[in-house]
Amino acid sequence: MEKQYTILVVDDTKSNIEILLTHLGKHYNVIPSLTGKRALDIVEKKQIDLILLDIIMPEIDGYEVCTLLKENYLTRAIPVIFITAQTNEDAIEKAYDAGGIDYIAKPFRPKELLARIKRELTLQQLIKDLEASKEELRILATTDPMTKLYNRRSFANISANLLGQSKRESQAMSVLMIDIDKFKGINDTHGHDVGDTVIITMAENLRNMSRTGDIICRYGGEEFVLLLPNTRIDGARTLGEKIRRQIEESTVKIESGGQVHFTVSIGATEVDVPAEKNLEPALKRADVALYQAKEGGRNKLVTF
Ligand code: GH3
Ligand code: MG
Ligand code: MG
Repeated sequence: MEKQYTILVVDDTKSNIEILLTHLGKHYNVIPSLTGKRALDIVEKKQIDLILLDIIMPEIDGYEVCTLLKENYLTRAIPVIFITAQTNEDAIEKAYDAGGIDYIAKPFRPKELLARIKRELTLQQLIKDLEASKEELRILATTDPMTKLYNRRSFANISANLLGQSKRESQAMSVLMIDIDKFKGINDTHGHDVGDTVIITMAENLRNMSRTGDIICRYGGEEFVLLLPNTRIDGARTLGEKIRRQIEESTVKIESGGQVHFTVSIGATEVDVPAEKNLEPALKRADVALYQAKEGGRNKLVTF
């Protein structure tokens, strides 16, 4: 079976390391280090799941190694088990104060050592799994699963933050509201799956054409909002026009072998950053402009 976890063993006595290796080597990848300094080097470069740390070592002792590990946000989560001949109460207290998670006296009992290591690793795995599901939930709650764009709810939060930032930095901000033309017709003619493909293609186009920092949101079924920080209306119009043309000039290949051609209408407006308290007024203006673009024959960009 492939060994899942890597343990860093730090001890200045070679024979101690060898003993630990015989007990741990069957179950874990073991990386030995004879000095604290080298141990600190290793944790920067390798993925380490747990550290067994001696206390009395020349130069940097175990307490100091542990303290340094806990001060570094990259290494602070790695559990440290002290393993030492120091058994007086003060030494034990100091080990926990330095950030150790457990303390084992030498000479150790191998089965106990293995059991304690296993308990810590299981705990760490639980924490990792929890973090992963938290992240999964966060993504589910803030994005649209089909396009991976921000959903309307998270757009409200992000835009509020960005507007605040633009106010503090006296920066401009603009909004594009983009709606696919006669989308119902695409669904009716080619089916809902092709409609979905068109929406996904649209999202990809928007992602490719926008800058880092631009916020792209799936605002409704076939409606998208782009929030453009540091952008005046002229810049927004240029981008919007580019998007409109790009969509007009491209086609979406469909499974049956055919192609779907579609266009978009766009409403553009600049946020009055100093005066407006939230994005609502700008979104309303963009919506009015979008409506005018539709009224004016579609495949158009209108500025409010
Ligand atoms: P207009 O040019 O005025 O925008 O016309 P339209 O047909 O695009 O607009 P309308 O709002 O009448 O129709 C939008 C349609 O989009 C209706 C809805 O069934 C469809 N739709 C919404 N979300 C999805 C989706 O996720 N997938 C697919 N395939 N269709 C969707
Ligand atoms: Mg539409
Ligand atoms: Mg619509």
